[in-house]
Amino acid sequence: MPSIFTRIIGGEIPCHRLFENELVIAFLDVNPLSPGHALVVPKEEMAELHMLSPESAAALGAAVAHVAGAIMKATGAAAYNILQNNGALAHQEVMHVHFHIIPKYQDGRGLALTWKPCAIDHTAAAELATRVQRQLGA
Ligand code: AMP
Repeated sequence: MPSIFTRIIGGEIPCHRLFENELVIAFLDVNPLSPGHALVVPKEEMAELHMLSPESAAALGAAVAHVAGAIMKATGAAAYNILQNNGALAHQEVMHVHFHIIPKYQDGRGLALTWKPCAIDHTAAAELATRVQRQLGA
């Protein structure tokens, strides 16, 4: 079953397209948090970011920066957030990789965050960093 974003890429479902190249498409979110809220989507159909090919991931990163700049100029927004959810537990609803670009306005429209940091445990952090480095082959 193709994702709804694959159907948009295929032209089967309409969208307000902002940008497209061989590997990526960007369009306005149909239920925006603020004016200019956009999604940047790789044409490669993968559910989560780490599953993408390096080519898709690189094209996606470049497109996010490119489109974000255009949205900032076009909307006059004061700032913006980039949001990228992976997995239902992390609030991903559409299981096809996408970055949100969410303009933030002086009146508060945009992404509202709840951020609850805690103090780092340096012993545990050093062990974890070693485990991740091993996964990275470093
Ligand atoms: P996420 O929770 O990160 O998976 O967000 C999925 C986003 O896709 C939501 O913000 C939806 O409003 C958006 N969305 C779903 N269907 C469409 C569509 N047909 N066109 C544009 N945006 C969509």
